[in-house]
Amino acid sequence: MENKNKMLSDSQPVDSLIGGKWVAAEKKIDVTNPVDGSILAKVSSASPDLCLSGVDAAQTAFASWKSTAPRARAEILRKSFEIMIAEQESLARLITLENGKVLADARAEVAYAAEFFRWFSEEAVRIDGDYRRAPSGANWLLVTRQPVGVALLATPWNFPAAMATRKIGPALAAGCTVVLKPASETPLTALAIAEIMQRAGVPDGVVNVVVPSPSGPAVGAMLKSDKVRKLSFTGSTQVGSMLLAQAAENVINCTMELGGNAPFIVFDDADLPGAIDGAMLAKMRNGGAACTAANRFFVHEKIYDAFADGLTARMGALVLGDGLDSKTNVGPLVSKSQQQQVAKFVEMAKSDGAVVACGGSAAADGSYGYFPTVLTEVSFDSPILREEIFGPVAPLVRFTDRDDVLAHANSVEHGLVSYVYTRDIGRGMRVAEALESGMVGLNRGLVSDPAAPFGGVKQSGLGREGAHDGLLAFLETKYVAGNW
Ligand code: NAD
Repeated sequence: MENKNKMLSDSQPVDSLIGGKWVAAEKKIDVTNPVDGSILAKVSSASPDLCLSGVDAAQTAFASWKSTAPRARAEILRKSFEIMIAEQESLARLITLENGKVLADARAEVAYAAEFFRWFSEEAVRIDGDYRRAPSGANWLLVTRQPVGVALLATPWNFPAAMATRKIGPALAAGCTVVLKPASETPLTALAIAEIMQRAGVPDGVVNVVVPSPSGPAVGAMLKSDKVRKLSFTGSTQVGSMLLAQAAENVINCTMELGGNAPFIVFDDADLPGAIDGAMLAKMRNGGAACTAANRFFVHEKIYDAFADGLTARMGALVLGDGLDSKTNVGPLVSKSQQQQVAKFVEMAKSDGAVVACGGSAAADGSYGYFPTVLTEVSFDSPILREEIFGPVAPLVRFTDRDDVLAHANSVEHGLVSYVYTRDIGRGMRVAEALESGMVGLNRGLVSDPAAPFGGVKQSGLGREGAHDGLLAFLETKYVAGNW
């Protein structure tokens, strides 16, 4: 557990958590600060064998955890929520250090992440069943729910706290034990949350954390072990679909939260300042690195220029820099390759005729930053609209016809979230119904809420997290036909 970096707290774990013990490995992964590329910590890289011992530890703990009283499971989640909130500032700093997002975003993430523990502490005691007479009258139908079993949880780097708690919370509430595999870019937050859960009283082996690098062989080995009964994955569609194929071999129950390519549609009757506020939130939360990020702005011709001017003024005024600095509004992207990717998408759009209204270049200070960018005169067919940008770039397209914009909004393979701005709620609801996405923000630039079912359709995923649905994802239904 030793950590020598003065930026991190002395208690920051850097090893794997297996069966309640911190296990060091010789091979290390460098975790870097995206603001200057400096090494924050050397985290133990878990071998596939060590990952399998995490699965074994989870399997051993499952027998007693599933029969632990729901109220007792709930109390541990509740206590974890309370500690996270009490330690919000240090956790937020940790997120900023390893992920790059600004402190305000990191604080918001800690609050959001902790809410999943509170919400699922409340859900743990609401696992329902059913007791009915068969229609024939011949027997009874009893329905109960049981935990799926050992769950493998894999999370991305963009929300290192919230994507972990959104899975650990419902898994533990349901009575499942887990092996968490955070992204190797941002493992420190997940390890810190596991340590908090230990202090909250989580029994040994109920939460295990491994950080293998490379991920592929270790995740593959765990999916092949016949002890893993659930895979809950958040990440790219590309990796998700590969893991679905691997999970199919053992017919593992899967929840997949994958990529997005959200349309943001502004009708001519929209409240313009409200739509610009919503656009800033939907685009710039997390510096644009969110699966829910508005990725394609479709603005009605009648208000296109006013919207573009308003958004450009707001985006152009944002200060790019070190997320720990209180003057900064946008932090760097998580890595050099992410920065290069965003730059490539902007060049693609420019060569297709897009005009750079603000930004349009990478930071020149050696950080992985990219200046907040607005692209105007983007055509419906521009290649940038087919990519998940995952950075602070807003491409603006003009539209005139409702059916036309709907067809374009629905023309991509992703379907996570869509945003619609109009004062005509009837039109807004009709458009919301017609949009092919799992979630819609109607005159709102933020949909995430632990009490709401989060998830996508098409290649944005399978299943839902949060709400009661998130709990059901870790439960199997058992039916008993009774006769007495
Ligand atoms: P990613 O797919 O590269 O990685 C996600 C996780 O999978 C990480 O833990 C990573 O280490 C692991 N992984 C990578 N390659 C693997 C392999 N070959 N085998 C097994 N595991 C592997 O995604 P990312 O770059 O970390 O995150 C960005 C993506 O996540 C975006 O597409 C974003 O939209 C998506 N995302 C979706 C949601 C959602 O709820 N739908 C939320 C956040 C992020």
